[in-house]
Amino acid sequence: TVSRLQPFGSTIFAEMTALATATGAINLGQGFPDTDGPRAMLDVARAAIADGLNQYPPGPGMPVLREAIAADRAARYGIAHDPDTEVLVTVGATEAISATLLGLVEPGQEVVLIEPYYDSYAAAVALAGGVRRTVPLVADGDGFALDLDALRAAVGPNTRMLVVNTPHNPTGTVLTDAELAAIADVATSNDLLVLSDEVYEHLVFDGRRHTPLAALPGMAERTVTVSSAAKTFAVTGWKTGWVCGPAELVDAVRTAKQFMSFVAGGPFQPAVAHALRHEQDWVVSLRESLQRKRDVLGAALAEAGFGVRASGGTYFVCADITPFGTTDGLAFCRSLPERVGVAAVPVSVFADHKEPWNHLVRFAFCKRDDVLAEAAERLRGLA
Ligand code: PMP
Ligand code: GLN
Repeated sequence: TVSRLQPFGSTIFAEMTALATATGAINLGQGFPDTDGPRAMLDVARAAIADGLNQYPPGPGMPVLREAIAADRAARYGIAHDPDTEVLVTVGATEAISATLLGLVEPGQEVVLIEPYYDSYAAAVALAGGVRRTVPLVADGDGFALDLDALRAAVGPNTRMLVVNTPHNPTGTVLTDAELAAIADVATSNDLLVLSDEVYEHLVFDGRRHTPLAALPGMAERTVTVSSAAKTFAVTGWKTGWVCGPAELVDAVRTAKQFMSFVAGGPFQPAVAHALRHEQDWVVSLRESLQRKRDVLGAALAEAGFGVRASGGTYFVCADITPFGTTDGLAFCRSLPERVGVAAVPVSVFADHKEPWNHLVRFAFCKRDDVLAEAAERLRGLA
């Protein structure tokens, strides 16, 4: 392995999913749903295969999907994109993130991440030869808030890009409008690019509304927004994601993407286009059911003795293990499948500065009610 990738080894998701499989544990570690997305969407993909849509689609993505993405962003957020130049279909959000960093960050330039951060960000910064800086979320009531002074202090003359993720994996934090405005202020006053990972844009709870960073004044021209069908339509295995942004930035992402995968999976594209146009009610019911599942799992974790943190979005909830007499989340997660038959992931693996996060572990609640009930029963065994 080249030196710039040596720190990354294999991901926590691979480790914990393998452990869950080996022990027969319920996998609340890796975040993926255990029920399918909308039936009609699955039927469109099936028909696309049967009808011979099985060769390379256009590099930037099929027009039908790029148009549906642009129409969705216009209808939902009032943000206009030219589907031909300002929308690019990628192999999941993961490729979108890597291609954005590879296409827009020079070796040696700094990229600021919010800590804890989704694990692919640091690896993608390293692939690009960038230098990562981090800004922490800090405890705020029963949830988390962005340390705005640290954000301002992290930016210097060599900073090229901020990476923002709201709703936030792993904490479930939904950044407030004031936090987004502060980020926009830092970005515009330092002339930075922003990669805004909004893959959980639809999964926000308690009446919250998702505000895309690109909607803030001065942000449209500097923001590459990333989203994915994985979370919105419960198809993590389809690896169908996209970026939206100004043509010049999207073109840089496209240049890098060409040599990573060239195109993204053909038959999935008309299916996701269908879902964006016709399955919004399904997404509303997904959101409502996830909010309820968050409450069910949260109550079970509290009853089992965890200190449960607030989650305003995503399908994750973080829990403090201090009541069990340890603050070593990594060791706790490595032993949990064997102890009680449930898998989780430690939050510290998403951070450069481990100490503030060691005592927290992340559980996914995007599971069937019977699975969550069984997990709750098993977790009671910890008390
Ligand atoms: N960003 C975040 C914050 C995520 O949680 C995920 C999925 N775990 C991704 C990106 C990757 O999405 P995809 O599966 O579409 O590549
Ligand atoms: N996005 C999911 C998570 O955070 C899965 C990530 C993965 O398996 N790479 O759990």
